[in-house]
Amino acid sequence: MSDRHIQNIVIVGGGTAGWMAAAAFAKVLGSQVSVRLVESEAIGTVGVGEATVPHLKLFNDLLGVGDVEFVRNTSGTFKLGIQFNDWGRLGDSYIHGFGSLGHKVGLLPFHQYWIKARQKGIAADLGAYAIHTAAAPRGKFMTSAQDAPAHSPLADIPYAYHFDAGSYARFLRGYAEKRGVQRTEGRVAEVRQHPESGFVESVVLESGETIAGDLFIDCSGFRGLLIEQALKTGYIDYTHWLPCDRAVAVGCESAGDPPPFTRATARKAGWQWRIPLQHRIGNGYVYASPHLSDDEAAATLLAHLDGKPLGDPRVLRFVTGMRRKFWNKNVVALGLSSGFMEPLESTSIFLIQSGIARLLNLFPRAGFSPVLVDEYNAQAQFEFERIRDFLILHYKLTERDDSAFWNDCRTMSIPDTLREKIELFRDSGRFFRTAEEMFAEVSWVQVMIGQGLMPRSYHPLVDQLPEADLRQFMDGAAKVIDSCVDLMPPHQAFIDRHCAVGA
Ligand SMILES: Cc1cc2nc3c(=O)[nH]c(=O)nc-3n(C[C@H](O)[C@H](O)[C@H](O)COP(=O)(O)OP(=O)(O)OC[C@H]3O[C@@H](n4cnc5c(N)ncnc54)[C@H](O)[C@@H]3O)c2cc1C
Repeated sequence: MSDRHIQNIVIVGGGTAGWMAAAAFAKVLGSQVSVRLVESEAIGTVGVGEATVPHLKLFNDLLGVGDVEFVRNTSGTFKLGIQFNDWGRLGDSYIHGFGSLGHKVGLLPFHQYWIKARQKGIAADLGAYAIHTAAAPRGKFMTSAQDAPAHSPLADIPYAYHFDAGSYARFLRGYAEKRGVQRTEGRVAEVRQHPESGFVESVVLESGETIAGDLFIDCSGFRGLLIEQALKTGYIDYTHWLPCDRAVAVGCESAGDPPPFTRATARKAGWQWRIPLQHRIGNGYVYASPHLSDDEAAATLLAHLDGKPLGDPRVLRFVTGMRRKFWNKNVVALGLSSGFMEPLESTSIFLIQSGIARLLNLFPRAGFSPVLVDEYNAQAQFEFERIRDFLILHYKLTERDDSAFWNDCRTMSIPDTLREKIELFRDSGRFFRTAEEMFAEVSWVQVMIGQGLMPRSYHPLVDQLPEADLRQFMDGAAKVIDSCVDLMPPHQAFIDRHCAVGA
């Protein structure tokens, strides 16, 4: 096994995944490794990944990119959570917010008290007890107040972003090229592998140029040029659990100030996203093709835009699932080439970021120790499967029976790992995060309750608090949140003040 250092990394693909990887490698690996990225403008990118989760801030921190620079360069806006409309039942609405929910009392999480208070009829909707879910519908946003007391909800406001995917890739490209990443325009026509080991040795472009490397990063999108077409790694299909397999997307003109949240509205055979940017709104209908034609999906999407469409709707096809291995031989798949679980909770860009971090932590020598490869694959699989369960939850917990699609979702069988979580919560509101799965208790609780899963009971220790005190506790918690939201500026005013494009 070779002990020498990796000297050359070749990234195939210049979408969000390719340029995120290039930027991070350039920053972290510096001059120790040369990084080359090949992309084909003729093939283009998916370019609709525009909603994120708060973890992206950590990636920006790694690159040393601040909010002002990032949001200005990507026409970005801020995101406190996702508003789900019509998911549990037609007419329902709840927000999955990114922050904490009420505050812990001793051992118990806030929602345990909320369950009892709700049963007694003395609690408002769960959203009234979290700054994110209270601020978002009022169009308010600010980052954590440095001068607020530590226990104030204003002291801790995690947030994510909406951004223009094309601008993001351009921004990262500039960042990476400035730090030495070499970009090559061209279409990869052939992948050359070692005749015995099967390791990838080089890619050959249509121009005839051969690009050799030690480590190859497959960021070629759904086609999985290296990981699948060359290495035949295989794919685990989740369609039976995550049935949407197409999306039709179109931008439209802005309509008023951008709200600080993504909207996901359930429709007859899937759901529609609305992602507000500074200069336009991103929209798409994610649907299951056995239940809806492309034309019908496009017509529904166009009928539910808040502004004038900017161009023709574009259909994208995908199969939900993940690769059997994310790292195979000397190829690591990042982005859509590694799998795709649909955009409902904005997890794809997070998975890219997490794959990059994992690879840097397990960065190999040129011998590619199988122990590192196995560890990478085990961690990535765990991460995908736990996110998969969280996504399935949204579909499974529907009470809708107004279309064949929702009937299928409501009655489908689900993974045991998810069934156990649902049963535990249904019993008495208990939830335990599995190891370091991405979504924490607060996310699961908001979605389970938001979708109408009301626990039958609650933790017995809650009864230590007399009912009059419980009422006071709930009223006090809601009042604190409400008065904090009063102090927050409108989202648009925050952008105008700090990071408007062209300011
Ligand atoms: C409908 C939809 C909505 C989404 N919404 C979100 C969201 O809100 N939030 C989120 O986090 N994620 C979202 N995603 C996922 C997100 O778009 C992707 O994770 C992200 O764009 C990364 O894509 P990529 O870079 O892997 O692939 P792509 O964007 O497809 O880029 C592939 C690259 O490979 C290059 N390439 C391919 N073949 C060759 C070749 N032969 N030679 C040279 N170059 C080649 C292409 O030119 C391109 O540069 C969404 C995805 C879809 C489908």
